[in-house]
Amino acid sequence: MKRLTERLENGVINVKYASQHETAIHRLVTIEDILGDEYDLDRLRELAEADREGRIQVKPKMLKCPRCGSTHLAQRVDGACYYCFDCGAHIVPNEVEATIATNKEEI
Ligand SMILES: [Zn+2]
Repeated sequence: MKRLTERLENGVINVKYASQHETAIHRLVTIEDILGDEYDLDRLRELAEADREGRIQVKPKMLKCPRCGSTHLAQRVDGACYYCFDCGAHIVPNEVEATIATNKEEI
């Protein structure tokens, strides 16, 4: 996605109205919808720099069996429940806990 603004050397901000179908305000609303009601621009800058430098890794969310703690779950084709390969439990989706993988064995 291309940026809609540029900051000129003299400090003037140029908004590219003519070349974009989207306005800068629409883009800002989209960005703020993603970020939520509170955000820290210094933290966003730090995260963006880290991402550009390849220092960011998004770990997949793992589903955890509430009975035995295993992350070896499979969802039934119809989505009605999950099956735990370790304890054999059938678990309804609202009982499955989301957890974040903490080491390579869990990924
Ligand atoms: Zn289990």
